[in-house]
Amino acid sequence: MIVPLLDLTRLDSSVRDQLGATFQRVLHSGQYILGAEVTAFESECAAYLGVKHAIAVSSGSDALLMALMALDIGPGDEVICPSYTFFATGGSIARLGATPVFVDSAPCCYNLDPTAVAAAITPRTRAIMPVHLFGQSADLRPLLDLAAQHGLPIIEDAAQAIGTQYEGRAVGTWGQIGCYSFFPTKNLGALGDAGLIVTSDDALADRLRMLRVHGSRQKYLHEFIGGNFRIDALQAALLRVKLPHLEQAHARRATHARHYTERLIGAGVAAYPVEACVCRHVPREAVTAPLLLPYSCQPHHIYNQFVVRIPGAGRRDAMRSFLTAQQIGTEIYYPRPLHQQPCFAHLPSAPQSLPWAETFAEDSLALPIFPELRIEEIDYVCDQLTAFLQSA
Ligand SMILES: *Cc1c(COP(=O)(O)O)cnc(C)c1O
Repeated sequence: MIVPLLDLTRLDSSVRDQLGATFQRVLHSGQYILGAEVTAFESECAAYLGVKHAIAVSSGSDALLMALMALDIGPGDEVICPSYTFFATGGSIARLGATPVFVDSAPCCYNLDPTAVAAAITPRTRAIMPVHLFGQSADLRPLLDLAAQHGLPIIEDAAQAIGTQYEGRAVGTWGQIGCYSFFPTKNLGALGDAGLIVTSDDALADRLRMLRVHGSRQKYLHEFIGGNFRIDALQAALLRVKLPHLEQAHARRATHARHYTERLIGAGVAAYPVEACVCRHVPREAVTAPLLLPYSCQPHHIYNQFVVRIPGAGRRDAMRSFLTAQQIGTEIYYPRPLHQQPCFAHLPSAPQSLPWAETFAEDSLALPIFPELRIEEIDYVCDQLTAFLQSA
């Protein structure tokens, strides 16, 4: 059986037809950048997320860059972010001449460790940028407390977490600014690049809208320097087709995650890494198992990725090769943490070592998870995993 990591062509036929009709509508409208489709999409996102302002932009990376620009962050400023994340988190900070200060993640949920954040705050810290990695909220409460204590804004990198709830409210809406991505592999994926910024602050929203069009409110009058961060009308229109199906898609992913979990625990090869939880939500008790499941420290998870860990030198890579031979798609998110990237080697702030980020880079593996994945396919993946883990 061939099980792809992700198959974007497995679309519901009614959605496929709607996307086709939408393409025709935009084609005939003659409006290809910003405009009515974008405004409508922004209102629908604001309503879905429960936030005052939603500003659709060119990509998730640009959303992060714009958030930092809107807060006037630049040379001499430090921004705290995780090392174990997609490159854009740290890259956006460095692009503005500011210094990314990389901190370690919590071993249970792969998200920022609030204690490590507290230890990294200096007089130069200008913002904290948590990431809601793989679709699970970071431990926001202690981060919000820290930020309030030090008068720092929080920019949420919610690129992988549109619709994830934290204490009953969407992630991305807790900090000063929230950023999302519609890269095709995200839970709400465009048919190209696109992103979104949200805020409940009127002045910030105004500034962000101007930043999107080279810092102008009135054509050819530039009050500050922005960029071309515009979204295509086509992407906004296509995303409007998909948005109403998003909650159902999240629910399917969660069902798949439960199925993986039950099958792998049932086979006796997997456990949760609860002994290592630093989020205070679970008791610390030792577990040993060849495969560690993604632990939900938070009650809600939209499973943009289902990332397991296979501890032991070379074990993850051996398992990945085995799965590849069985025609099962997997991916490593992320094989090199940001503090070890060549482009950040010059940073005075680069830490010597971040043990958990380095551990995840060595032992984590993403398994297939997407709404249209079939139960038989998950069973096949679990059978192959079990066969490998029991044979070694
Ligand atoms: C995808 C992603 C981004 C960047 O989004 P793009 O739309 O691809 O630019 C930023 N941060 C994280 C954590 C992501 O997963």
